[in-house]
Formats: sequence, structure tokens, C-alpha cells
Amino acid sequence: MTSELSVADQAALTSGSDFWHTTGVESAGLPVITVTDGPHGVRMQATEGDLLAGVPATCFPPAVASASAWDPELLRRMGEALGDECRAMDVAVLLGPGVNLKRSPLGGRNFEYFSEDPILTGVLATEWVRGLQSKGVGASLKHFAVNSQETDRMRVSADVDERTLREMYLRAFHRVVTKAQPWTVMCAYNKINGVYASEHHWLLTEVLRDEWGFEGLVVSDWGAVVDRVAAVRAGLDLTMPGPDAAGDRALVDAVEAGTLDGGALRKSAELVREMIVKAGKREAGTYDAAAHHALAREIAGRAIVLLKNDGGLLPLRAEGQSIAVLGEFARTPRYQGGGSSQITPTQLDDALTQIQASTSAAVTFAAGYDDPAEAVELARASDVALVFVGTVHETEGADRDSLDLPAQHLALIERVAAVNPNTVVVLSNGAVLLTSPWESRVPAIVEGWLLGQAGGSAVADVLFGRVNPSGRLAETIPVKLVDHPSYLDFPGEHGHVRYGEGLHVGYRGFDARQTPVAYPFGFGLSYTTFSYGAVSGAGLEIRVPVTNTGAVDGREVVQVYVSLPGSTVQRAPRELKAFANVPIAAGATVEVVLRVEREDLAYWDTRLQRWIVEDGEYVFEVGASSRDLRASVTRHVDGDEARVPLTADSSVGEWFADPRGASLLGELFAAAAAGAGDSTMAAMASDPGMLLMLNSLPLSRMAMFPGSPFTADALTNLIKAANE
Ligand code: BGC
Repeated sequence: MTSELSVADQAALTSGSDFWHTTGVESAGLPVITVTDGPHGVRMQATEGDLLAGVPATCFPPAVASASAWDPELLRRMGEALGDECRAMDVAVLLGPGVNLKRSPLGGRNFEYFSEDPILTGVLATEWVRGLQSKGVGASLKHFAVNSQETDRMRVSADVDERTLREMYLRAFHRVVTKAQPWTVMCAYNKINGVYASEHHWLLTEVLRDEWGFEGLVVSDWGAVVDRVAAVRAGLDLTMPGPDAAGDRALVDAVEAGTLDGGALRKSAELVREMIVKAGKREAGTYDAAAHHALAREIAGRAIVLLKNDGGLLPLRAEGQSIAVLGEFARTPRYQGGGSSQITPTQLDDALTQIQASTSAAVTFAAGYDDPAEAVELARASDVALVFVGTVHETEGADRDSLDLPAQHLALIERVAAVNPNTVVVLSNGAVLLTSPWESRVPAIVEGWLLGQAGGSAVADVLFGRVNPSGRLAETIPVKLVDHPSYLDFPGEHGHVRYGEGLHVGYRGFDARQTPVAYPFGFGLSYTTFSYGAVSGAGLEIRVPVTNTGAVDGREVVQVYVSLPGSTVQRAPRELKAFANVPIAAGATVEVVLRVEREDLAYWDTRLQRWIVEDGEYVFEVGASSRDLRASVTRHVDGDEARVPLTADSSVGEWFADPRGASLLGELFAAAAAGAGDSTMAAMASDPGMLLMLNSLPLSRMAMFPGSPFTADALTNLIKAANE
């Protein structure tokens, strides 16, 4: 028990001993343990001086890609494989997953995050954590919270209203914490509404622990702690990196001076101790690098989103079609982003080699960006031109300033498409890229994200039809950046970023404004087609028969979007609430069963300070994307008791909207109208137009009107009677 440790030892336990290790306390038999990044590979630092040189490990597809597979089971298998690699490298805690919402497509770390939707993010991250932790290795759910930009990330205040915070930015964290209990949660660098995440008592203690029941420890992002005492007081347990002798000393001094509750420090030290003990139970292991590479390839293949395929140009035939492969990325893949998640891969597949191995026909190559003339000649002489383009660099620490392809890449597409009508564009990018104006000039577009070390093989698998694409967009591709809901409020200025679009993040905002998009959230083509039958089931269960109407086996990602027409609160036109990823053989029909969780229908009521499921007729739309809805059903859902107590500050309208309030106030008005001598009240109470005008008037303010029947006593009695 840590209570037996000296205060100095307790303080030492709550900061690291170096960049990647906790502090050991020999007298208590507590060894140091290793924590490391995360999230799509194990980044064990190989040499002391070089932070980014890692021991080779499997570079799985970053979250931008793995999320596009929309398959929780794949994420669980990835988590398990990461757990095995951690065991082989003696890593106790892997620093991931990152579940911040992609608020803006410019977000510099979007490649490390899953989606613009909190349910999709939460469901996928939950399985990742379950998979990892099933191996006795801890996860670190990050970055808690509202860390949706890189600009000024260590100081900026994300200014966001509570409903938006709860329903959008905390929702995925809530899901993962309550369903998978990650060993650790990592607090963000930024401030939330003016308070550093590392000092945010409401966030770290009242919400995370008291409301959600988090049992693990809160670790700081690396360098996120400004004031150790304030951090421990707020509920932050472990400060990284270390050592931080001055901070340890400050904690001891504060406990001795009585300015910090000794119990708070003891609790944090105890949580660190518990984690070290738990980590000690992990068995050492080995892993099969070839098998993990194969898994990385499988996930990457499932992550690719086929955006366009006019005339069925894809899949390519394995013979008889000469191919020009154009663009350096085909030879030198862009497969991960920069920063703390950067992995030294165990091997690296490039698309060019894999394409060559996939066909008996001629394959030519030109690097393309600097020498388009050669690329154009090869394209002209080939049956098919594959143009590999994308972002040049995406990294932690910096947001992007544009959604456009680099000028050279754009020029390559234009020039190749002008000479070869069978041009396929293959994109490599960690976040959304605009597809206009070039999209209309090419018949096929393959969204290849950053696919990890096996991405080159996975691209060839899809191009040649060995894998039938089934990836779906986890983020909307807008027509223009200015259309994006976040556009006017990103990335803020003077230390503040205002989350002005509120709840309308991503597709919610596009749908609310009926803005055209290039490719909607949830979209992705297949080499086959699917048709949907009528919805059946009952309650929150949705059953829908889906038929593969094409000639090849495929996978459909069936999505359920929910809305509540006539809701008493502002809501997006539709919100994703469930999805299923289903293999369906050619010609077969599968009855797909989806379950919406009742709590996912709730909104956060700021007046009652709790989640409320409204009573009402909910519309459940089932479809292949957020803008391709094939069937729908309306079901009644019983709501929660949500009466807001009536007060003197409640308006006349609010009183009349409440059955008990309406009857009491009605009686009072009737009495006033009937009463002799009071012409003002009588006129007000008997004139419907006047009553409409009065709707917004708080009762207490009405009491100030001449002749009002609301004496102080009458008001007190009325409120008492209304709330009894
Ligand atoms: C990143 C975290 C990462 C940590 C340790 C920070 O810069 O924000 O995601 O886990 O470094 O490398």
C-alpha cells in the first residue's frame, strides 16, 4: 500500500523517471515500467539520443485508415496484435488510441484520429482497447479532451458549450471508459474553456471518475503539466516525462503546508502503484512479424475507399492490360504521418512492386511529379494509367493550410488524364483532400489514405480485385473548404478557438445546411452492388435484408441514422447510431441485425445537468451512406422523466407548457380576469394575442406589473404547488 510510503516516495511515483519510464521505488518492490507510443504500432525508442529512431515494429494502418474499414472486429484484432508486440518489447502501456473528433479537415493529427462522428469513433476505439488489454497491456485513451487541432496546441483554449462538449467531444471517451476501462487516460495539452486539461477538476475528477466510474490513472500528455500541485489537485495522477524533482518537491511542500490534501497525492501514487503491479502480471512473449504484416495488409485492404469507378474500369485484369504506374508515391509510399506515432516498420511494401507482381502485362513507371513529360508518354502508350498522388507531409504539431493536392500532383493528373481515358487516381493522405476540379476528368478514384507498412500490397489487392473494396468514409469530403462547418472558427486566434458550429460537426453541419458535398460521410463503392429490403424488428432493433445483386462477393456497411422530428432541442438532421459490417456472397441475401443503444439517443440537458432520452417518434433511416438512405422506419421510444422544476424565473410560456403549471397559472389568470377593478390583468388574461406576447416574460417580472396578482406570497405558493 502506498500509505506506507513516505510522502516523498509518493510524490516521486507520480512523475516519470525519464521519457518512457515510471519511477521505481525499490523499498516498496516497485520496478520501473515502460510506456510508449502508439497508436498504430509500438514505437520503442532504439537509441537514447534519437526520439524518433524506433525498434522495428509492425506499422499498422493509422486510424484514418483503420476507421475507414468500419469494422470493430478488425480493430480488436489490431489491438491484440499490438498487445503481442508490446509483450515482446516489454512495453506495459501503449499510448493510444486517439479518439479526438476530426473537427476540421485541416487538423494536423487527423491521420491519428478515427472520425468526425463520436459513435463510430467510440465503437472502434473500444474494440482496439479490448484487444490490446486482453494481452495484459494497458491502453492510454488520448487526448482528454477537445484536442482537435495542432495550432497552438499547448496553450489554446477550446471554447465549447457544455452540450456540444458532452454530446460530441466527450462522447467517444465516455464510451471507451465505460465499456473497456482503459488502464490510463491521457490528458490533453490544451485548455478547455480557459482551464488546462491537466488542471481541469471538473473534467478529470467530476466527469471522468465520479460520473463515468473510471478506475485507471490519468497520465499527462508529454509536457502538458504546468503546475504539479494544481494537476494532482484536479485529479491528474502521473506526470510525463520525468524526472521532475522540482515538481516532486513542490508536492511534498504543499502536503506539508496543508495546501494540498495528502489524500489526493496518496490516491494518485496508489493508482500508479496499481498500474505497476498490474503490468508485472504481463507475460513476456514473441510475435510473428510475417503474420502481423499479413494482418496489416488485411486491414489496409479493408480501409481503402473506392470513390469513383465509372464504367467498371476497376478491377484491373491480371493479363492483357498494359499499365503505366505514375507518381513517386507508387515506389516510395506515403504510409504514415509524422510525430510521436511514427513507426520504424518491419518491412515496407510499395505499390509498384506489388502491381508488377499482379499482372503478366507490361508495367512501366515514371516518378512523374518533376518529369510529367515522361509520365504522359507512358500513359499515352498504355491501356491504363495509375496516378499516385497525395499529401506531401502531415505531422503532429502543425495543422494543414489547404485541402488541395500539391500543384505538381494536380498537374500530373490533368496531363495524364488528357492522354489516357482510363486513368485511375490513387490517393495517399492522412486527412481529406479535395477531389475537385480534377475528379470529373478521371473515371476512377481510389482513396488510399495512409495505409501502414503493407499499404502497397493492399492497394494492389484492391486494384486487381483480390479484395473487393468495402471501406467507407469516416469523414466527409467537402466540395470546398469554405463549406465546412468549422471553417469560420478554425484554428482561432489569441489563445482561443471558438467551437462556433456547436453540435454540427462534420456531416451534421453539412446536412443541417443542405450543403452539397463531394463524397458524403459513410460513402464507399464496391465491385458489386447491394439492394435493401424493408425494415423489420421492434424497439431499438433494426432488421433489414440486404442482397448482393452483383457478380462478386462483397461486404456492405449498413448504417443506421436516427432523427427525432419535432424534438424540443436542436439536433442534427440525422446522426449515426449503429452500423454493421457484413460479408455477403454474390447473389445472397443476409438479414442484417443492428441494435441502437438507448443511451445513444440521449441529449445532454443543460438545465437538468443530465442525459435525457426524449419521448417521441424516432425515425430510423437505414442506408449505405449518410446520403444514400434506402429504408426507414418510425418507432416510438419511451422517454425519461425530464420535468424541469418551475421557478419564479420560468417564463409564462414555460409555465403553460407544463401541465401542472398551466392549470395553476390558468386558474390564477381566470381569477384575475374575473376580478373587478383590475383592468390590466383582466385585459391580458383574456386576450390570446397578449398572452402570446407574454410567453417570454418570467413570472417574477410579471409580478412587477401594476395590478399583478403575483404578490411575493402568491408567487411562493404557486411555485410550491407547481413542484409538489
Ligand atoms: C503526443 C502524444 C504522445 C506523447 C508521447 C505527445 O507529443 O501528443 O500523443 O503519446 O507525445 O510521445
